[in-house]
Order: sequence, then structure tokens, then C-alpha cells
Amino acid sequence: MFNSLSDRLAATFKNLKGKGRLSEADIDATAREIRRALLDADVAVPVVREFIAHIKERSLGEEVSQALNPGQQVVKIVNDELVGILGGETRRLNLAKNPPTVIMLVGLQGAGKTTLAGKLSQHLKEQGHTPMLVAADLQRPNAVKQLQVNGERAGVPVYAPHPGVSSEFEDATGDPVQVARDGVAEAKAKYNDVVIVDTAGRLGVDSELMEQAANIRSAVQPDEVLFVLDAMIGQDAVATAQSFNEGVGFTGVVLSKLDGDARGGAALSVRSVTGKPVMFASTGESLSDFEVFHPDRMASRILD
Ligand code: GDP
Repeated sequence: MFNSLSDRLAATFKNLKGKGRLSEADIDATAREIRRALLDADVAVPVVREFIAHIKERSLGEEVSQALNPGQQVVKIVNDELVGILGGETRRLNLAKNPPTVIMLVGLQGAGKTTLAGKLSQHLKEQGHTPMLVAADLQRPNAVKQLQVNGERAGVPVYAPHPGVSSEFEDATGDPVQVARDGVAEAKAKYNDVVIVDTAGRLGVDSELMEQAANIRSAVQPDEVLFVLDAMIGQDAVATAQSFNEGVGFTGVVLSKLDGDARGGAALSVRSVTGKPVMFASTGESLSDFEVFHPDRMASRILD
């Protein structure tokens, strides 16, 4: 991931190596190259604009460190700004004071919600929690079954419309709001301290999907609503994120399929565009391909 952006930035910084004081023209040329590299990586235009303005301002300013030469200073500034657009601090899950903590997953069909549900439940289990999954995606054929398989792999219980006979539900017409509500009640009764509610996604953003997700949200009052975003959809990522932010609202973002995202535009744009932090990353199809999103480490990977 970020391969091309990393290479482009490395080439830009190489040009600054060995230079003494940087002239305004040097800084302009560097800023131009960084701008082009970010745009080619599909980073949203307003995000690029602000990023470049900061780089220029700080490079021209009085930021003189005795320990760093001018080239190194520019690298440091770019690093700081990358950490900034990636969200700054690592954002941890907001856990309910009175369990269960309710986490609702939203996103387009195929974004990776069901896969993420399994990964997140395994991660929480490793942290000493006792999660339960709730299958409230009754839209997609086989979604209930798929969640049950993921739950089994992670060793986590799954609440489904009729647990254990999911094959009957390949075209389930049940009420997802009721399933979500019952699932949370079940977790409470069984003392599961975190409930992850998987919801339906459509191929494109549509109002029915938004309404259903919004209804589930008001029914179960989640502590976190995580928007799962396929990082590979490139430029479309920002518009999709905005639609979900307006239609349902979410508290955090999970970037999925980051393993296949060579450019990184969604990862670098979504925080600034929605104002919501990226909290986790999904990096493959197996349950262990999952990480907590650390903005500083992600920035270092880009600049490595
Ligand atoms: P949902 O419709 O949002 O529930 O999406 P799924 O969880 O069913 O995922 C859709 C497809 O993407 C499946 O084939 C998954 O195996 C695949 N997938 C999910 N997450 C990742 C990921 O992080 N990396 C890769 N390479 N594939 C993923």
C-alpha cells in the first residue's frame, strides 16, 4: 500500500539532500512535487490544498532546528502533517460504562463489514472481552451464514434471526431493527460485554439503506457506529463516506482492503473530509489481517 506515493515522496526528498539553506524556489518546487504525488494517489483535492499550504507555511517559517539540515526539516514537516491528516492520536474504542458496549457496522455491500465483524470480535476477545455478533444484515443472500462462519472461526457467539438454521434465511425477510434489538437484549442476558451488530449494505448508496441503518441506530443506541470503507474504491470513497455521515452518522471509520490499496487516497482523505477518526484497518481476508490504526505508524510507513 501507498507504494507509489512513498516512492514519489522519497524521490522528492532526495532532491533536497545535501542542500544548504532552502530558497523559496526550492520550497515551491518541493511543494509542487508533493502536491502532484498526493493528487495522483487520489487524495481529495481540498485535503491536498490544505496539506500543501501547511507545508509551505512551515517550511518558509522560522522552524529552525539545530539538529536537522533543511532537507531533513522538510521531511519532518511532511511527516507531522501526514500524522495530522491521518488523525493525530490513535482513537480507542469508546466502551460503555454499563455493558454491553454496542458497536454497529455500516457501509456498502462488499465493503468488508461481515469480515470485519469476525476480525474485530477476535481482537476484542484477545483483549479479554466477551463479544457477541448480531446478524442484522437480512438483505444479502447468505450474509447471516457468513457471519456465523466468521463467528465460529473467532470462537464468538452469533445471534441470528433463528440461530443454527441460517440456511433458511438466505432470503430472509425478517425485521433487521427487531433482530438488532433482540440481539442486544440477548447479549445483556448472557453477559457478553460487547455486541457487534452487522447491518445490510447495498451496492450503491440509497435512501432505503440509510433509513434502515438509521432506524437500527435509534433502536440500539450504539456506543460506536463504525463505517467500513473499502479503500480500493479510490475517488468514490470520499463521496460514499459523506453520504453515510449525513444519512446515518458514524463515530469512526474502518479502512478495509488496505492490502490491495496501492494509492492510499481514501486513507489519507477520509479523516479530513468527515471529521471522523480512522480506528481500524483490515488488511486481508483472514481473521488475523487486522490492525488498530495508528496515525503515526501509518505516516512512518508512507515515508519509509
Ligand atoms: P460486506 O458485504 O460488507 O459484509 O463484505 P464482506 O465482509 O462479505 O467482504 C466482501 C469481500 O471482500 C469478501 O470476499 C471478503 O473476503 C473480502 N475482504 C474483506 N475484507 C478484506 C480485506 O481487508 N482485504 C481483502 N483483500 N479482502 C477483503
